[in-house]
Amino acid sequence: MTRKISSAAAVIFIMVFFTIMGITADAATTADVKLVINNEQVSADVMPYIQDGRTLVPARAVFEALGGKVTWDEINYIVTVEYDSTTVILKINDKTAEVNGENKTLDVPATINNSRTVIPARFVAEELGFLVGWDESTRTVTIKSPETPVVPEFKGYVTGISVEEGNSKTENTVVTVQLSEALKGTEDYSTTMLSSPDRFALDVKGFQLDSKISDLDYERKDSPLSTVRTGIYNENTVRVVCDLKEASNPSVNLSPDGKTLTITFPTLSTYFNPMEDGKLVVVLDAGHGEATAGKQSPGGLMKEYEFNRAVAAKMKTYLEAEGIEVLLTVNDDSDPSLADRCESANNSDADIFVSIHANAFGSGKDWTSANGWEIYHYQGSVLGNQLAKSITNANFPGLGILNRGIKTANFYVIKNTYMPAVLIEHGFFTNIDEVELLRSDEWRDKAARYNTQGIVNFLRSFN
Ligand SMILES: [Zn+2]
Repeated sequence: MTRKISSAAAVIFIMVFFTIMGITADAATTADVKLVINNEQVSADVMPYIQDGRTLVPARAVFEALGGKVTWDEINYIVTVEYDSTTVILKINDKTAEVNGENKTLDVPATINNSRTVIPARFVAEELGFLVGWDESTRTVTIKSPETPVVPEFKGYVTGISVEEGNSKTENTVVTVQLSEALKGTEDYSTTMLSSPDRFALDVKGFQLDSKISDLDYERKDSPLSTVRTGIYNENTVRVVCDLKEASNPSVNLSPDGKTLTITFPTLSTYFNPMEDGKLVVVLDAGHGEATAGKQSPGGLMKEYEFNRAVAAKMKTYLEAEGIEVLLTVNDDSDPSLADRCESANNSDADIFVSIHANAFGSGKDWTSANGWEIYHYQGSVLGNQLAKSITNANFPGLGILNRGIKTANFYVIKNTYMPAVLIEHGFFTNIDEVELLRSDEWRDKAARYNTQGIVNFLRSFN
């Protein structure tokens, strides 16, 4: 029986009903209760209202909007709501409801209001599997259909996950997801940023996980990632989870052939805690070696490697006096490759990397006028820039030569070291006046003390 109660019958019914029961609709709190069904505000000729702390909603308007079936037995004053495999039967003004043949007790019975059957929202909705919410501040009743995940059709396998690590310089960290079949576009994957702890999830719909894929761990302290994990999120949906050291907003791109998804995490800028391991460690990199061709003043009075080592040795003494551990990339007069110098730093507990050099201009055979001190960091490195500023501020004006300033470059050792790195060019050994300073033990000592002060100021600023 699905007929609606007729208007005439309703009027008569209401008059009789309320006369007999001795109550009126005024007993209810009806002021401005809003109704939102599946995220859309719904208006009905009888709006929801609160009675005895329970929200009553018009049965037909609400449950038909949710896809249920509502029938009204006007002879017996019984309303039946069916959804999926559940049937809820309510009798007007009766606190006993029947759910799939089983009796349950209600706080507030179904009733008739303005010729519409109103029923207790939470009880009925929850028995039928809907989600019911009440927002006191906006006085809104929300009812939602249960989330029934649609199982995507099986398309293929996630065949590989790999990570190309950036570092605290400027390069991004890129997670690459390889697929056996092409995705059509953004409709085939979704992303979610989750917190506590911070993590980023990529769901690839229609895919299963190749058995040879395993989780990846990242111990490097400047990586934005701590782990990359994979799992089955739903049937035929693979979830790739990137555990993050700080909340991040990666970009996700699908390759033109549809078979590669990349997740690009921006440079880690705030994760720098040199005292995290309980010690401060500085790598000093004295440039070149005894046999490095060309690195000497015109006439050969000063070789650059010797200056670099002398300043590094003095800095080591001063830094250690400050309780800072010092590692040297070279302990003798040899010239390790730039890759070896970076590798020894990257395999250590180093917090920063400082490469020590003196400058040259021209052919090297003749004196030239170029002069002054300058410091380099890798372009885009926020921490490298801070370190360069701190060392510059400590050196000037005391160092007493021209300050050529802070510069950026792609020099191998400042690019390929994972930690904040700078390269200092202390002055020109191709300048006839400056080479005298570079050769002087007093000036070397001054430079070493200023460099040390700049490094200490930088490291201590993070404590
Ligand atoms: Zn050099």
